[in-house]
Amino acid sequence: MSIVQGIGVSSGLAFGPVVTVGKPVQPPQDEAAAADAESRIRDAFEAVATDLDSRTAHVDDTAAAILSATAMLARDPSLIDGAIARATAGSGPATAIDGATREFMEQFAALGGYFAERATDLRDVGDRAIASVLGQPAPGVPPLTGECVLVAHDLAPADTATLDRSQVLGIITEVGGRTSHTAILAAQMGIPAVVKLAEAVNLSDGDVVLVDGETGEVHLDPSEKTVAKRRKRDKRRTDALASTSGPGRTQDGKQVKLLANIGGVEDAREAGALDLEGVGLFRTEFVFLSAASAPTVEEQTKIYADVFAPFEGRRVVVRTLDAGADKPLAFANLGAEENPALGRRGLRLSAELPDLLDTQLEALSRAAADTGADVWVMAPMVADAQEAAWFARRVRENGLRTPGVMIEIPAAALRAEHVMAEVEFGSLGTNDLAQYTMAADRMQGELAELLDPWQPAVLDVVASAARGAVINGRPMGVCGESAGDPLMALVLAGLGITSLSMAPSRVPLVRYALSRHTFAQCARLAHLARSARTPVDARQAVLEACDPDLAAIL
Ligand code: PEP
Ligand code: MG
Repeated sequence: MSIVQGIGVSSGLAFGPVVTVGKPVQPPQDEAAAADAESRIRDAFEAVATDLDSRTAHVDDTAAAILSATAMLARDPSLIDGAIARATAGSGPATAIDGATREFMEQFAALGGYFAERATDLRDVGDRAIASVLGQPAPGVPPLTGECVLVAHDLAPADTATLDRSQVLGIITEVGGRTSHTAILAAQMGIPAVVKLAEAVNLSDGDVVLVDGETGEVHLDPSEKTVAKRRKRDKRRTDALASTSGPGRTQDGKQVKLLANIGGVEDAREAGALDLEGVGLFRTEFVFLSAASAPTVEEQTKIYADVFAPFEGRRVVVRTLDAGADKPLAFANLGAEENPALGRRGLRLSAELPDLLDTQLEALSRAAADTGADVWVMAPMVADAQEAAWFARRVRENGLRTPGVMIEIPAAALRAEHVMAEVEFGSLGTNDLAQYTMAADRMQGELAELLDPWQPAVLDVVASAARGAVINGRPMGVCGESAGDPLMALVLAGLGITSLSMAPSRVPLVRYALSRHTFAQCARLAHLARSARTPVDARQAVLEACDPDLAAIL
């Protein structure tokens, strides 16, 4: 038996036989040109898009948004025309599709960042179109005949979003990072997952593995004793989690609200039924990822009202459109940029396209007026106090009382004393904050170590933001993925963070962690973490000093 290490992105334990995700169909060598190539190529891409669209009906919003965005790629005229041009020049239809797909992938990869990440999605679209034009079944997850752990180079969003949860016990991928689509979807679906496991290539159908989605460890051919030990820990964890409920608070009663990150109406319905205190991040751009034109006030009002409905008496923090970079919207686009993550995205785009923000604020205001939910509205990617003041004014002019800002640019965190004076609340986006503090693209799995929110420098920037909020007597939450890490939650509480927003499946463990420590203990853990030299040392120091009952179930 041996243990190999990847990145744990969706917690839980999975033990079972491996099923590998099949390799895609290759175009036949020397494939002959076809007289009807144009119509076959068009039909193949349309079949792929229709298939992806049809799958959106049975999945949650986050998955549906990703599937729709992939369907849009399959309808991209330049991709289809590129394939037709190759076929007209004499290639066989499958070879033409493959050639055009590769050409576009290279262009995406050269653009880097978000586009490089979408290259995987594009490859999946190409592979499906090749299979379709050859009259073969779509590539991807084979028909499953029992419980298994899926192993893939990378899972296409279309595969992850439609997995059969009753059979797929766990997921392992060779590539990917904490914020890749596989990671986000697996966490949303509650399937234990480990990504960026180099040894995945050596796993074959029938190998038995134990996957720990919390630690990122994968045990190959584990002994019965190991499985029993891990299972015991898992049982202990289940029992511990069942022992707490209700609002988040430290052992001595300091409130730290436990909130959900959601991407649309379906997520809201699911989260609304759970034991949590509201929504800390509604990513509104997720609703419109596949929209070709800007949604009207009426369309938006209806969606927002449906999102607020399950949260009567609870808080819902809405983020205005965070378009651009990793979340491009067809209707909120100022053209190609050299560095989209550093370009006109988030609030900067809202400033350039003011009608878009006005329409959204009007719709939010109408929906908020009709709901019993406590609606707060925040802007993404705010850099300084002037931007915060501008946004707050716009929000108030629309009759919304609680404007806030996301703190995800280090400049805003460092000057939080002034930024927070302009608004009612702040929410730290630690995903982007880590990206910008460490100058490391969050879409690049190879940079996972730099992007670790335990980086002491990132903790210093978070501490600065928290201090700025305290000086102004304003609440400051965290809504990046780090809020769902129970040890990090203790550190954040110790820094004065007042709410934590996360994938709903993370809430029970974070609630339990808080309940086992006083605020003073959290403050000490925060001090230990910030005193460390490396992210690994920081986490280790907190793990060693935290309550042993918590450590025993991590
Ligand atoms: C963040 O950056 O941490 C965040 C919560 O926003 P997103 O992941 O949507 O950029
Ligand atoms: Mg962000």
